[in-house]
Amino acid sequence: MRKKGKVFIISGPSGSGKTTLYKRLLKDKGLKGQIVKSISVTTRPKREGERHGRDYFFVSPKMFVYKKRAGHFLENMKVFDNYYGTPLKAVKDILKSGKNVLLCIDVKGAKVVARKIPQSIKIFVKPPSLAELKKRLIQRGSEDAKTVSLRLKTAKDEMKEAGFYEYNVINDRIERAYRALVKIIKNEINQRGKG
Ligand code: 5GP
Repeated sequence: MRKKGKVFIISGPSGSGKTTLYKRLLKDKGLKGQIVKSISVTTRPKREGERHGRDYFFVSPKMFVYKKRAGHFLENMKVFDNYYGTPLKAVKDILKSGKNVLLCIDVKGAKVVARKIPQSIKIFVKPPSLAELKKRLIQRGSEDAKTVSLRLKTAKDEMKEAGFYEYNVINDRIERAYRALVKIIKNEINQRGKG
């Protein structure tokens, strides 16, 4: 029988380290060919080093609305001041090919995916504390003070949703958190038949 892929959702506040963990997962030799990322569509401006079609599909707000109306998205959300959406067809294609799909999306988007695909495996990456999160956001230096305070406020709200996720990974030390994450994913992939 053909194996069916699973959907893995990774969420966590900005500064929790989820993007670092997610990028590392995609390069992990032990998971090679087993997990594929879904590339989201966004209206947010491209950051330095980002590439269209690799990190995101960067589109205008008008194009985003067009795609939304055309039923292009599995879910779409306004996150901070920009719009983000997960392309439905890409997710379906990955699953059909028997591979697992990895979504790195916000809490609200995760809830929509979980409703539409109840078998999704939801993983929440937590910073050790809000104080540590603030420190990381300031150190990162990619956002101004106003953005940092908005992200912190959002983080507080998002942390309340951690219980909605099957797994919580505390990112106190990146190596430890990464090992925990890989273990969760490998275990879930190996339990394929039960999903
Ligand atoms: P960033 O702009 O820093 O890349 O992402 C900001 C937030 O948007 C992160 O929490 C990220 O996980 C989330 N995000 C990225 N793509 C999507 C998406 O397609 N849907 C939703 N709901 N959130 C997304």
